[in-house]
Amino acid sequence: MDSLSQADKINQVEVRLRGNEAPRALKAAARFRRESLKFLVQLSESDARSLAASEQPGDLINVVWSFYRFAYLGGTENRERAAAKARELAESIRVKPERLQRVIDEVKLILKSAAERGRYDLTFLPKTQMFAVFSADSGRTLFLHSPWDEDYLGLRQAIVYGALVVLGTEEGRMVRRCVRKVCGRIFLANRPKQVYCTRRCVNASNFERFKQEIGIEAYRKKHAETVRKSYRWKHRKDLKAGKKKRGTRT
Ligand SMILES: [Zn+2]
Repeated sequence: MDSLSQADKINQVEVRLRGNEAPRALKAAARFRRESLKFLVQLSESDARSLAASEQPGDLINVVWSFYRFAYLGGTENRERAAAKARELAESIRVKPERLQRVIDEVKLILKSAAERGRYDLTFLPKTQMFAVFSADSGRTLFLHSPWDEDYLGLRQAIVYGALVVLGTEEGRMVRRCVRKVCGRIFLANRPKQVYCTRRCVNASNFERFKQEIGIEAYRKKHAETVRKSYRWKHRKDLKAGKKKRGTRT
């Protein structure tokens, strides 16, 4: 006889989902959003003209494909159709790189607003439509579409919208500006408390603080001392080496 009631069985399934599969799916979705944000940061640091003029034709197509991969552009349920559209878009950008540069400049602005905890307004183009594509994976479901225009403002609008959506998530809050003034780079933090973009900026900042703490004059004195010491030390070593050399000659 089955000792588990129907309710117990359902509970068991629920526990299994919560304790195993559901978190895994959530983690995958979070990872996807981080990858998507990393792409936005990279995009904001690129230049459309050099991408279009690159000897590597893959550079531009990679960027355009990422628009589809991270579902900034979409609505094509079929992968081949999306790939064909991506190639088409890459070609039209190669002809007129400013079509992509407008996107890059806007993404830069949005990331800046997000990093500085500011505000960004989006005014929709005339006849903009929103549509939803529902799927089982972690991809986005909402897209904006507007009629074709020569300057590809519709492209910019679609990507701006997607960027705003992903920046509004938990992962989006990890977009920051490096607190080291001379750097000021926008980056995606790995830890909630991270305030410097790289190890390099941490080290440089520690060194700058050290210099400030001991005072600039004291630092110069200390530095001069170190140079003198290392010179003397080196000199002594040279003398010893010289002696040895002379010694071997005789
Ligand atoms: Zn930095």
